[in-house]
Amino acid sequence: MLDLSTIQLLQASAAQLDQGFDELPDFTPESDDVEAIADVLASVASRMHDNYPYPHPLYAGQMLKPPHPVARLAYSLALWMNPNNHALDGGRASSAMEKEAVAEISRMFGWSTHLGHLCGGGTMANLEALWVAGQLHPRRLVVASEQAHYTHPRIAAVLQLPFEAIPCDEAARIDLTALEAVLQRSDVGTVIASLGTTAAGSVDDLSGLLDLQARYRFRLHADAAYGGYFTLVDNLSAETRASYDCLDQVDSIAIDPHKHGLQPYGCGCILFRDPNVGALYAHDSPYTYFTSAELHLGEISLECSRAGAAAVALWATQRLLPLVREGAFAQRLAKSRQAALLLATYVRKDPRWLLAFSPDLDIVVWAPRAACVTEISRKSQAIFSAAAEVGLHLAVATFPARLLKPAWPKVTWDADRVLCLRSCLMKPEHLDWVAQIWATVSDVADDSGRGGPCGHDRTSDAGSVA
Ligand SMILES: *Cc1c(COP(=O)(O)O)cnc(C)c1O
Repeated sequence: MLDLSTIQLLQASAAQLDQGFDELPDFTPESDDVEAIADVLASVASRMHDNYPYPHPLYAGQMLKPPHPVARLAYSLALWMNPNNHALDGGRASSAMEKEAVAEISRMFGWSTHLGHLCGGGTMANLEALWVAGQLHPRRLVVASEQAHYTHPRIAAVLQLPFEAIPCDEAARIDLTALEAVLQRSDVGTVIASLGTTAAGSVDDLSGLLDLQARYRFRLHADAAYGGYFTLVDNLSAETRASYDCLDQVDSIAIDPHKHGLQPYGCGCILFRDPNVGALYAHDSPYTYFTSAELHLGEISLECSRAGAAAVALWATQRLLPLVREGAFAQRLAKSRQAALLLATYVRKDPRWLLAFSPDLDIVVWAPRAACVTEISRKSQAIFSAAAEVGLHLAVATFPARLLKPAWPKVTWDADRVLCLRSCLMKPEHLDWVAQIWATVSDVADDSGRGGPCGHDRTSDAGSVA
């Protein structure tokens, strides 16, 4: 299952790195017992078996995607230096590589100038965006849709900014009418747009949000931690495309190279359209031009130490797979989207199933048809478990009645939430496996049995679950 064909490239490139320091006087690093290291590594390999098979296409559950081999190798190579991108002293080459890689991401969104850097992940990137928003609009309300990432209200609490969730429409996108009502009655300082949401991959109507921004004057932050890279693909719906096409007009963007950017964990990115927000970061450096090539990244970052290796890995990946439309990176990403469209087609064509949302990106949410939602939830859970038993790993997600009632008019809502099946088809290989995934899901659903009457409390009736 694992790519081991590239592992020997590390040996050669590490030797080349070593040669660059040949002029130094010889010294021998204090060495450990190689056999003892081998023993420990053997234990690690064996412990790592206790995982779901994330790199395999039959892992079609949560947001997990293997890093590209070049990212893994470049990261490992950089670890021999272990640079720290907090300051130029700690990582000269890797800081330069970070600035180049981040500038390429910023150009992908259509910006020729920006202020930005890498960080630990999407949560840190959003924290930084909201911290800047809070400096510019102190004490004013932050809003995001009820389907926005769960960390937004938490981040707002950390920053002591008031937060309110806005209802979604039936496409799981922020409801602009509900938002406008809040804009009229409250002092909203910042609106967070999700492109797309983590549960359903739904993409908020960004051009609608920009229209509201022109009238109500708030800061607009795009949380594109998951979906940002989809701006490169050529198979979005016209509506979704329109939202991506105005991403260059928002004030800040969070994107996670460790989600769809083929990076190991520990690689998020925050971008601000106006480089002058750099003045908000307290620092005692002599540098005042925040687009200067001499910038220490720690001056414009809330975090201090950061892995230079993460920047090296990202730089290497983008060197191999540039972030351009129609490039190999874009084409691989488009396959994920195509896989989701194909899976949604299977669901729509089969009367045994209900599609929850028409997929905006590469996430599909669906459920087995039943008369009532308690039964749908029970069957979803049973199918999820039965599929895992035969080696197909899906995910489940819960949605409120308000979102799905319009899509499922014949279902009786005997509960106010429903559990659905969910698949993030993040790997390009998923496209070739959708037919098999669907066949397995269908088999498992046929076997997972008939349920009892609606509204029946099955917690005391485990026998009927088999
Ligand atoms: C994953 C995700 C986050 C959080 O990012 P981490 O990298 O897990 O910290 C925030 N927003 C969205 C939309 C996400 O999908």
